[in-house]
Amino acid sequence: MSTSQESFVLGLVGGGISASLTPAMQMREGRASGVSLTYRLIDMDRLGLGVADLPDVLAWTQRLGFDGLNVTHPFKQAIVPLLDELSEDAADLGAVNTVLFRGGRMLGRNTDWSGYSSAFRSVLPDAVHDRAVLVGAGGAGAAVGYGLLRQGAAHVAVLDAEENRAAGVTERLARRFGEDRVSIAYDVGQALHDASGVVNATPVGMVGHPGSALPADLLRRDLWVSDVVYFPLETELVATARSRGCRVLPGGGMAVQQAVGAFEYFTGRTPDPARMARHFEELTA
Ligand code: NAD
Repeated sequence: MSTSQESFVLGLVGGGISASLTPAMQMREGRASGVSLTYRLIDMDRLGLGVADLPDVLAWTQRLGFDGLNVTHPFKQAIVPLLDELSEDAADLGAVNTVLFRGGRMLGRNTDWSGYSSAFRSVLPDAVHDRAVLVGAGGAGAAVGYGLLRQGAAHVAVLDAEENRAAGVTERLARRFGEDRVSIAYDVGQALHDASGVVNATPVGMVGHPGSALPADLLRRDLWVSDVVYFPLETELVATARSRGCRVLPGGGMAVQQAVGAFEYFTGRTPDPARMARHFEELTA
């Protein structure tokens, strides 16, 4: 959606987001692209607000002249029924991370899956048709599974510590991509047997959740290994996989590419992904 508009007011709605790098990343890319971009954190925890206040937050940001919002944990699903229109992918996923205020309407988009998919294609281009194991069936896991299948993965096996979560994501993905391309897995070792790669979409490995959701001895040299955790960028899983000779896709790729997609939706301009990635690396160094 191209626009001649040169000034944008945006925000991030989430809980506990005071350390988010998104405002810095988006505002710097705005400056580099020649648009004036103001980006504010709307930390619902700090404001003492919850899910029940989302309709008010949407109404007020729209009324106050915001052009759009990013939405993050824990509101990506709860925001869906409050919007006027969803893109097909956001409807498939039942999750929105980008809201556009256009002509009095609220439009929901999802750049998590497309961000993961872009990062994957740039780092593991020859692996797009592989069989993958997805560990973690929360919001990030659903987006990753969607991204893998949309780009042509032959099959995704979904595993979660909570079986009902694995079942929920498997059902959602099967509705869109067919039952033969997605299944629940119960044993990661068995699932990896005929897989070409594995993704960690659990929080294990992030600051405050040390460790790895995948035992080191399962990381065969011929597997590609992908992590969605990006704080730290070099998780225990990523470091172990590298040391075992696996090809790796760390979580920073998805974090940058979802921001690239959101910038494009907000401004109608194509940002420079390499520049955004360099800035992200500076911010996380
Ligand atoms: P979530 O809580 O919605 O889902 C996590 C899932 O992992 C849950 O279903 C939980 O049962 C499962 N789980 C936890 N430990 C497990 C284990 N040891 N084995 C199997 N399953 C296990 O969380 P989320 O919003 O999906 O986020 C997950 C991680 O992804 C977080 O660290 C988040 O920061 C990261 N994330 C990264 C990006 C990115 O752009 N790179 C985007 C979104 C989220």
